[in-house]
Amino acid sequence: MSSYRRRRLVALSALATLVFAAVAVANHSWGNYHWARTSNPFTLKLGDNVSGAWDTILATTSYDWSLSTKLDTTIVTGQSNPKNCRATSGQVEVCNSRYGNNGWLGIAQIWASGEHITQGVVKVNDTYYNTAKYNTTAWRNLVMCQEVGHTLGLDHQDENFNNTNLNTCMDYTNSPDSNQHPNAHDYAQLDDIYAHLDTTTTVSSATATQRQPPAMNDVALDGPPQWGKVIRSSNGGRTELFELDFGNGHKVFTFVIWSDEDRPGRPQ
Ligand SMILES: [Zn+2]
Ligand SMILES: [Zn+2]
Repeated sequence: MSSYRRRRLVALSALATLVFAAVAVANHSWGNYHWARTSNPFTLKLGDNVSGAWDTILATTSYDWSLSTKLDTTIVTGQSNPKNCRATSGQVEVCNSRYGNNGWLGIAQIWASGEHITQGVVKVNDTYYNTAKYNTTAWRNLVMCQEVGHTLGLDHQDENFNNTNLNTCMDYTNSPDSNQHPNAHDYAQLDDIYAHLDTTTTVSSATATQRQPPAMNDVALDGPPQWGKVIRSSNGGRTELFELDFGNGHKVFTFVIWSDEDRPGRPQ
């Protein structure tokens, strides 16, 4: 066992006692969206389309979320071209690339039929991670952990960049050092979200997306013009959630974490 793992386990056993206290107040899912599955714990595949600098980051994120008693994540060979990062039915594809000066550090996109997640995509933008400000392990961990967290059904715990850190990657901050991993509240929320079982499964399902309109799978989702309407905005637009509605409960959601840099066409 690595010293990293040992440290994390020690931290976790301390947190475990807090989990029970937190269950009653867990409240940061977003609209009850979740993966359908017939038993717990379930294993969600994270497709690895990331390059060297991100491999240990993705491994940390996968390890962190797998500490949930309801689910495990496992890293598999990615099936996407990192540049467009197309989704794969029943799993999450994770990609990095220089996506350009578009303003976003990272995005998570989630395809849903009714309340069930059918596939997801996480992209992290090297255009910013190649700059001195964001080229740190802490910024990389925060954003990777948060975006993968969204694909599990979690929302942010807090969207104020300037208040005290909650010691979770699901908390916005200008100083990510203590916000690189989930906290007990996140695991409590996952316990909540995945307390019930379903009669069908969308996890690792090649057919999870079969009943979705074909346009929903083919659509190019590279930027805000394709992301649909803003359904939530905070911090002067620095954090946003978009919804693209294909009708009959078929939707694609896009969570965006914006960088400090100017965003084209947006008020600062
Ligand atoms: Zn369900
Ligand atoms: Zn987010």
